[in-house]
Amino acid sequence: MAGIDANLADVRNRMVGACNRAGRDPHSVELIAVSKTFSVADIAEAVMMGQQVFGESRLQEAEPKIDALPKSLSWHFIGSVQRNKVRKILQKFGVIHAIDSLRLAEYVNGVAADLGLVAEVFLQVNVGNEASKGGFEPAILRQEIIKLCALQNLKVRGLMSIPPEEPDPESARHWFVSLRELRDDLVKISSFPLQDLSMGMSGDFEVAIEEGATHVRVGSLIFGRRSRRVEGELG
Ligand SMILES: *Cc1c(COP(=O)(O)O)cnc(C)c1O
Repeated sequence: MAGIDANLADVRNRMVGACNRAGRDPHSVELIAVSKTFSVADIAEAVMMGQQVFGESRLQEAEPKIDALPKSLSWHFIGSVQRNKVRKILQKFGVIHAIDSLRLAEYVNGVAADLGLVAEVFLQVNVGNEASKGGFEPAILRQEIIKLCALQNLKVRGLMSIPPEEPDPESARHWFVSLRELRDDLVKISSFPLQDLSMGMSGDFEVAIEEGATHVRVGSLIFGRRSRRVEGELG
């Protein structure tokens, strides 16, 4: 595989291509470079290329990396959220991607209030209704969206999903469409903006952008193959 700098340049070019095809402004899509399992040196290479936004799935792994790197970077927590880690996650990360129940949302809201901050979150949706995956069932989310958006110390930015694995990116398209349509539905129900859609990974980010992703989470295409799975990793 080419170096991180070349990989990152390639992903950015492909993002612009997807935006052009969809008639979207390239600035409307944020690239989250998913750095789980990769070193501070690897992340620093991406930073040299101007990358400022990174994603990690596990607090224990991320914390020393965050502390070792410039404070100007922004970090998205993309793993499953354990209650006993919420305080630390809120202190170290700007955004949490996997709020998957009203109870967890209420808990995070309480900790955020205690810390005197507003937590920026995505609501994870189990679009494929898979037993192995977390996330709101769409029907439940329709029932609970007004309560979720009313939480004072939570800023719900939008929805996030990790769709079922598909043999090719084109087959994943309908999952991205379904997340966008659910979002549009929830906006009607709640009158809450819910602007952002966190969807698309290394295998399918271009299709996700064509279907409205505002945040793509790309790891292996930038940093290379991961040699292990990460505890707390979703999906
Ligand atoms: C690991 C991970 C990614 C990145 O996956 P790649 O296929 O390496 O791009 C994206 N989202 C989540 C939630 C992840 O855990």
